[in-house]
Amino acid sequence: AKRARLDRFISQKCQIPRKQVRVILAKGRVSVDDLVVRDADYQIDQFSHVMLDGQSLRQELPIYLMLHKPVGVVSATKDSEHKTVMDLLPEYQDKGLHIVGRLDLNTSGLVLLTNDSRWSKRIMSPENKVAKQYLVTLKAPLTQAYVKAFAEGFYFAYENITTSPAHLEILDSHLARVTLYEGRYHQIKRMFGRFRNQVMALHRLSVGEIRLDDTLPVGEHRALSADEVATIS
Ligand code: URA
Repeated sequence: AKRARLDRFISQKCQIPRKQVRVILAKGRVSVDDLVVRDADYQIDQFSHVMLDGQSLRQELPIYLMLHKPVGVVSATKDSEHKTVMDLLPEYQDKGLHIVGRLDLNTSGLVLLTNDSRWSKRIMSPENKVAKQYLVTLKAPLTQAYVKAFAEGFYFAYENITTSPAHLEILDSHLARVTLYEGRYHQIKRMFGRFRNQVMALHRLSVGEIRLDDTLPVGEHRALSADEVATIS
């Protein structure tokens, strides 16, 4: 989130010199998120609710969306060749949305978008180990050896890392549910590639406790509920 000093924000928003803003602050005429603030260097962000004499100095509203990404759409805001996820959100152009964790072109399922970078950082931060669940359709049948190998991790020479323990459940001979706690480039495809098995379809079911709504048609989106937003802490 963009952070700013309170006195500078009020000065710019109301076209009042900083010196005068400090007098206004000292008189207790300013509140931030419903608490009176007198410090000129108090830090606010783009979502802080600042009021002067009981009048709101409007800032941006936070936006949190889930999108049911179709196959063939790029997880980017601009692309010369393919349709992008932003093309699916015409009413959200110029709202400063960014994608929270990309999916490959031929992957479908849950994509989160927000303009709140503090929230998205918490999801993406490796230390937080937020679970991402995928449904994977394979070309060749699965065996118990996969379960063990996914739990033990794979060495990826290119990044010089070993993947952290992942959970693989065999749902059917060619269908698995995989839970990752990180997100490396093409990670699932590369993991199955170690068994010379090909991913035929990949679909993201959830990110943390946020599950793709079963009732949300492919290509559609909806706002997250306050409860869903709050599951990321
Ligand atoms: N792993 C992949 O290989 N692709 C994705 O889109 C997500 C995870």
